[in-house]
Amino acid sequence: MIGTSIAYHLAARGADVIVIERSVIACAASGKSGGFLAMDWCDGTPLMHLARRSFALHEQLADEHAGEWGYRRMTTYGGVLRSSLMAASRGIPPGWLSPQVSIHGRLGSTETTAQVQPAAFTAGMMRAAQARGAELRLGNVTGLLRRGGDVVGVDLDGEALRGDAVVIAMGPWSGVAAQWLPLPPVFGLKGHSLVFETGTAIPPEAVFLECMDATGSILAPEVFPRADGTTYVCAISSSPPLPAAPDLVAPDDGAIDRLKVLCARISPILAASRILASQACFRPVTEDGLPLIGAIPGGSGAYLATGHSVWGILNAPATGEAVAELILDGTTQAVDLSAFDPARLEAVALGRGTVSC
Ligand SMILES: Cc1cc2nc3c(=O)[nH]c(=O)nc-3n(C[C@H](O)[C@H](O)[C@H](O)COP(=O)(O)OP(=O)(O)OC[C@H]3O[C@@H](n4cnc5c(N)ncnc54)[C@H](O)[C@@H]3O)c2cc1C
Repeated sequence: MIGTSIAYHLAARGADVIVIERSVIACAASGKSGGFLAMDWCDGTPLMHLARRSFALHEQLADEHAGEWGYRRMTTYGGVLRSSLMAASRGIPPGWLSPQVSIHGRLGSTETTAQVQPAAFTAGMMRAAQARGAELRLGNVTGLLRRGGDVVGVDLDGEALRGDAVVIAMGPWSGVAAQWLPLPPVFGLKGHSLVFETGTAIPPEAVFLECMDATGSILAPEVFPRADGTTYVCAISSSPPLPAAPDLVAPDDGAIDRLKVLCARISPILAASRILASQACFRPVTEDGLPLIGAIPGGSGAYLATGHSVWGILNAPATGEAVAELILDGTTQAVDLSAFDPARLEAVALGRGTVSC
């Protein structure tokens, strides 16, 4: 999502852009995330302006592209899922939730919360970038081309592909690029999700819950009914090693069964609905929890845009806009990126994969 958004904004300003994807567009977290958007949930943090600008751009993009990716405003609730022995419910749950759910309050209104179908959004932004002249190349980037201190392109499966600027936006795999250039560490945090075919049975109401499952683990399931007649539920995080490629990411043993049990407790509609996808993916995270967006010190011509953690779909539009400004103008107008400067964190070098030319 981050790469396609940067490509869109660069191409919209007339730059020649090539997006390189090793698998298929939206094969990783960007295709398997919740796609939930909040205007003000990052207020009071360094992400505030990025999030608010992104929330506004999401609406603008959806208007321009006629709802191609299921953008819609939602009402959002928060509560707890009680064990069946403590089913006496406080508060009034929306009618599609089970009596075991106690809603404690409204976390967002249609003024402040919204959603997209993230795989459709990522693919739609790629198509929109292509319509503005961008090119999509499928292949694996295995190194950077260097001339002295400058980065002048990438090694794409043995082919030298030159460019004036290179943006590393490889999600949790961005950490691999420390083999090519010293970079702050980037990690992957795994999450599991199910997608149900619920038709029109659930209104546009997002729900954030807390609960304890049968294993005694505290979980925080998130439920997002979507405009395309599906409902997405995610929960159960873990930190196994990041597989070498997105195609190798599989759910942890037992995680999907635990999630199914949880979903059946959350809503009888989920219990009765066909499951369309059972999946896992890794969100990109950094040492201090903030994204890495900006020029890479020691690699003139190279930029980093990753580490968006739980807000990568929300914050993609303003990230794309700002990185395009940084590359084309040398500075940003809409959002100040200084809190996300890669130079704030210590860089590590893994020391392989640079090609001199
Ligand atoms: C369970 C879950 C739920 C989430 N829900 C939300 C939500 O509701 N709202 C929200 O805003 N965010 C959410 N997120 C976070 C969001 O999904 C991520 O922050 C975002 O998708 C990261 O996008 P990305 O483009 O940085 O990375 P990715 O989506 O991982 O994309 C990186 C791409 O780089 C490619 N790549 C990697 N290495 C190479 C290489 N060497 N050569 C070529 N290509 C390469 C990969 O194939 C991949 O397609 C969620 C995350 C998880 C895990």
